[in-house]
Amino acid sequence: MFLGDFYPSGDEYELVYSATGRLIPPAGIPINVGCVVNNVETLYNVEAAARGVPVTRKFITVTGAVRRPQSFWAPVGTTYRELIEQAGGATTADFGLFVSGIMMGQLSFDLDEVVTKTLGGLIVLPRDHYLISRKSRPLEAMHRIGKSACDQCSYCTEFCPRYLLGYDVQPHKVMRSLGFTLTGASNWNQWGELCCACGLCTLYACPEDLYPKEACDQAKQDRRAEGMQFKQERPVTVHPMKEYRRVPLSMLRKRLHVEEYECEAPFAEASLRPARVRIKLKQHAGQPAGACVSIGDNVAVGQTVGRMADGMLGADVHSSLSGVVACVTPDYVEIETKG
Ligand code: SF4
Ligand code: SF4
Repeated sequence: MFLGDFYPSGDEYELVYSATGRLIPPAGIPINVGCVVNNVETLYNVEAAARGVPVTRKFITVTGAVRRPQSFWAPVGTTYRELIEQAGGATTADFGLFVSGIMMGQLSFDLDEVVTKTLGGLIVLPRDHYLISRKSRPLEAMHRIGKSACDQCSYCTEFCPRYLLGYDVQPHKVMRSLGFTLTGASNWNQWGELCCACGLCTLYACPEDLYPKEACDQAKQDRRAEGMQFKQERPVTVHPMKEYRRVPLSMLRKRLHVEEYECEAPFAEASLRPARVRIKLKQHAGQPAGACVSIGDNVAVGQTVGRMADGMLGADVHSSLSGVVACVTPDYVEIETKG
C-alpha cells in the first residue's frame, strides 16, 4: 500500500493504524497488536548483520541551501563539513543545520560534528531563516511566552495526530501547566505523556507560534522524574474528523517557509573518502561502548573499535576506515588514513 503525502506518516502508532487498522494500546508498542515497525535501512542492516557485516556507513540526504542536494552513503564518523562539501557546499556563508529533519531533528551549528548510525540527513538553512530563529529560542523563553500568550484556542490539540487517533494527548491542556509554579502542573502534564514529539502543534497548528510540543517534552520529563505513569481510562476511539485534518506536505512546507528548497535529492554514488573519522562510542540506546583499541593500532574497515561490557545494553561500534588509531577518549575513537 502507498501512504498519502501527509505529515506525520512515520509515527509507529499512525503507521500501524494506516497499514492494519489496529490501534496500539495507550503507552504500548507495536508488538502488542502483532506488528513490528522498522525503517528500510534498519532491515537492510539486520540482513547484513546476519552475514556478520557491521554498520560502517550511513545513508544520508543533504538538502536545503546547498548547491547539489543529494542522497548518498557516508562512512560513519565523517564530519558534517564533508557532507556539505559533497553536496556542492552551502549557498550562503552563514547557516545552521537541521540534523535528521526539521520537525523532529536538532538544530546544530557544529560542522565538526560527525555521522552516527542514526543520522538521517542534514537540512541546511540560512542563519536568519524563520525556523532557525524559532528553534534557537531558549527553553525558558519558550515556556515564558507560552505562559503569557496561550489563549487556549486548542488548535494544537485539534491537529494533534495522536489526539485524532484517539489517545489522550491534549497539548492545549499541557500549556496550562506553564502557569503553575510549586504545585498543580502535574494535573495538566498527564495530557502530554503520549505525545510522540512530531512537532506539528508547535510548527504548524499554533496560530501564535508558541511551543506546545516543547511543553509536552517538559511534561514528560517532569512526570518521569516524579515516577508517574499514565493510564488512559477510556477506550481508544478514532476521531471522526481524523482523515479531514491530515496535514499535506505542501501546506506544511508553506507554513515552515521552506518551499524554495523543495527539490529532488537524487542518489549519488558518492566517493566520500574522509582522511579521518571520529567513531562515537555511544550511537545507540543504553550505555556507551568501551574503546578496545589503542593509539597507533592498525585497524581495518569493519573492525570492532568499541565493545560493550558483558550484560550491558548497547552495541559494539566499528571502524569505517582502514588506517591507524590517532586518538582515543571515553567518547570516541579517531582513525586516520596512513601516510
Ligand atoms: S494552538 Fe497555541 S495558542 Fe492555541 S491553545 Fe495551543 S498553544 Fe495555545
Ligand atoms: S508534538 Fe504536538 S502534535 Fe505532535 S503528538 Fe505531541 S502534542 Fe501532538
